[in-house]
Amino acid sequence: MNCKGWNLVVAGFLMSLAAVAAAQGQKARTVDSERIARAAEAEPENWLTYHGSYNAQRHSRLDQINAKNAKQMEEAWQFYLPIPHGFEATPLVVDGVMYFTTGGHTAVYALDAASGKELWHRTFEVAEQVPACCDWVNRGLALGNGNVYFVTLDARLIALNAASGETLWEKTLADWRDGFTATVAPLFVNGKVITGISGGEYGIRGFVDAYEADTGERSWRFWTIPSPGEPGHDTWKGEQPTWMTGGGPTWVTGSYDPELNLLYWTVGNPAPDFNGEVRPGDNLYTDSVVALNPETGELIWHYQWTPHDVWDYDGINEVILADLEVKGRQVKALIHADKNGHFYVLDRSNGTFIQAAPFVRQTWAKRLDPKTGRPEVADVARLTSAMEPLCPGPAGGKEWNHMAFSPQTGLAYIPVIENCATFRMGQAFYRKGLPFWGSVADAAAIGPGESQGAMLALDPVTLKPSWKIDTKWPVMSGVLSTAGNLVFWGEAEGQLHATDAETGKDVWTHKAPMGMHAPPMTYAVDGQQYVAFPVGWGGWLNGFAPGLRHGERGHLLTVWRLPKGGQPSADGQQ
Ligand code: CA
Repeated sequence: MNCKGWNLVVAGFLMSLAAVAAAQGQKARTVDSERIARAAEAEPENWLTYHGSYNAQRHSRLDQINAKNAKQMEEAWQFYLPIPHGFEATPLVVDGVMYFTTGGHTAVYALDAASGKELWHRTFEVAEQVPACCDWVNRGLALGNGNVYFVTLDARLIALNAASGETLWEKTLADWRDGFTATVAPLFVNGKVITGISGGEYGIRGFVDAYEADTGERSWRFWTIPSPGEPGHDTWKGEQPTWMTGGGPTWVTGSYDPELNLLYWTVGNPAPDFNGEVRPGDNLYTDSVVALNPETGELIWHYQWTPHDVWDYDGINEVILADLEVKGRQVKALIHADKNGHFYVLDRSNGTFIQAAPFVRQTWAKRLDPKTGRPEVADVARLTSAMEPLCPGPAGGKEWNHMAFSPQTGLAYIPVIENCATFRMGQAFYRKGLPFWGSVADAAAIGPGESQGAMLALDPVTLKPSWKIDTKWPVMSGVLSTAGNLVFWGEAEGQLHATDAETGKDVWTHKAPMGMHAPPMTYAVDGQQYVAFPVGWGGWLNGFAPGLRHGERGHLLTVWRLPKGGQPSADGQQ
């Protein structure tokens, strides 16, 4: 770059700083754990952490846009993204500034949240050879101590100054040549940045890491596969030291209970996928949720949804923390809709199983033990070359895209996949950095007119559906719930929805140019509520919806609000 070019860059950089300062005005305050813990109640205008709050409910107290006036929403702004990859991030908003990431060469954007005007962006190139099973994606960032924290596909964790975009520090989580990648949005807890890792289809040994937010120094690492001598190691039998390549990735952001001071993180499938012959045993802590001490990484308890998984049921889906009255007793509950097709309620203080029930068609489990929830595997699911379709298939009854829980309606809103598949077991050979799975699974044909998905409102207390909207394709977007008695979500062909949270009646729809995979989120600036939909198809989605066709372009952030000026009345008339 010549000198003049550099001067222009510097000038642009200083202008960006001024713009950020102006956008933040006098309100700019540092984000810390106390602020995040109170954000849902004290400052619903902000979305300070990946799931919106530590309890991961993805429920906002904003109610300016409600079930009566949502039909009047108009688009406030759009922001187009030049990426041919899935757009899976949840944007964060703090004091009028929005931050989000995109996949491909991992990029971070800072925008004025009211206008969509770009303040700065940074792009971090990754090597073309980086192994990623399921597209070059990224799910977002953490805010804390005046910085943003995110991972790159080649498994780096980076801290940038939130105002300027300048790099503060950068750490390598693991070597991508060994099959490690990273796509998760980190979580900021008590001055530490907590992150997971991807690569469960490449024979990694998974972990959850914590780094000091100011320096990037690693505080602790929790290995998801126990080594010899550690509790749980005896769940990895077989001739080879299979635990060293046993998978157990951690690529979905965890939840945190500040009162119990417990961090909850989910762990994905064992490796090799599909072929369990080389790894007899339950294969802890794969397909599980682990509760950790966030200061030390010490394991406090664990619960395994699917012991000895040979169907890629993963168990990686988010866990939501909610206080419920179940069977006449107040429970500090943890709720979870698993890929294996069952909805679970646990006691989050100690990991005790409370109840579970299928929320989609499932044939792999004969029953769950009513006391422990441990599945009794159906004969049809014992893999040989099972040509009979098994439900769910490896797409699961729900993928990673997040459900929401409304404390107002008491309902969980689940993006559902109705999916069955045939599995054929094959050999699995470990080679460093290469795919490590032992089977193929083919999605089974569905009957004419059958739906492949649904938006399902489920009562976690009764485990009964409250309402359900059938969809042509699997619902692959996340869900946002709001105090306006609305749930926001998107379909595979781009229909965006605002649905009455109590009745399941659609009150607003809009057709976006592509399907939606990310979760919508909401925020407010100067008293105006906005709803942001990250639109962009990608990831391993053809495996879920064979026959669904999509263009390569059309990724955008589309942001909606009520018309400015008019004060919407209770019945929605201006
Ligand atoms: Ca998997």
